[in-house]
Amino acid sequence: MQIELKYVECPHCKKWHAHNELLSYNTLGRPVCWSDGKCSRDETLEYESMPYSKCTKCENFFWFEDCRKITDYEIREHINPPKKEFVEKQLVTEFLKENLEDYQENKLDLNYPPVNWSWRSFTENLIEDFNEILESVDRLSIDKEVYIRITLWQHINDFIRHSRGRLIPILKINSKESKQNRKRYDQYEKIRLENLKRLSDLLTNVKGETYEGSEITLIEIERELGNFENAKSLIENIDPIDEHKHKVFIKKSLKLIAKRSTKIFRL
Ligand SMILES: [Zn+2]
Repeated sequence: MQIELKYVECPHCKKWHAHNELLSYNTLGRPVCWSDGKCSRDETLEYESMPYSKCTKCENFFWFEDCRKITDYEIREHINPPKKEFVEKQLVTEFLKENLEDYQENKLDLNYPPVNWSWRSFTENLIEDFNEILESVDRLSIDKEVYIRITLWQHINDFIRHSRGRLIPILKINSKESKQNRKRYDQYEKIRLENLKRLSDLLTNVKGETYEGSEITLIEIERELGNFENAKSLIENIDPIDEHKHKVFIKKSLKLIAKRSTKIFRL
């Protein structure tokens, strides 16, 4: 994993934060992939490459692409400039004027997801944050909204995916379970359905390279929503190239549509 240390400025309150940007990584072996598009990867890796963060000062969410940023290398060059070819960079000067002490004492750490989240409540905390981001959906671009909604969908599905693992199988609840679990189940089920309906509308209308393969995502969404006829007609109208590329997915989807099943599956 290759990481570059950068400093990013919160676009809301101008506080600077440290941020490790993931440049490249190696994956070992073939990942396990699921019908909702999630593939098993090192989870640390997934959370290292999130495109947004939450400011520790003003508590607003922000996207790295909207930030002013400088690299640690640029700052070190300023503090200890080489004799020749040194160009003073205005943004670094500005940064150092306000943050020199905090920078030298390593007090500009930004960790998102926050390090104090326990693994037990990690997914719940993330889902809460996704919902908070979606509350101000009018300020999000379509790309960002799609990203958050797909990530939200996959994280709610994690409760099923990992139900034998460390997460509580809340979506496999039965009458013996406590009232509190029932309440949480109802809450997530409501979020899940609203999210998938909105995602279906969004993906039906988007075009372009970023959304290549979105037909496959739409088939899965419609099936998970229980709209089996829609899912079937999407499969019937799929581009032959996509059909060939995703033949395992399509074969398994058709089987589940016939059984009227909304379950996620491994590819
Ligand atoms: Zn801020």
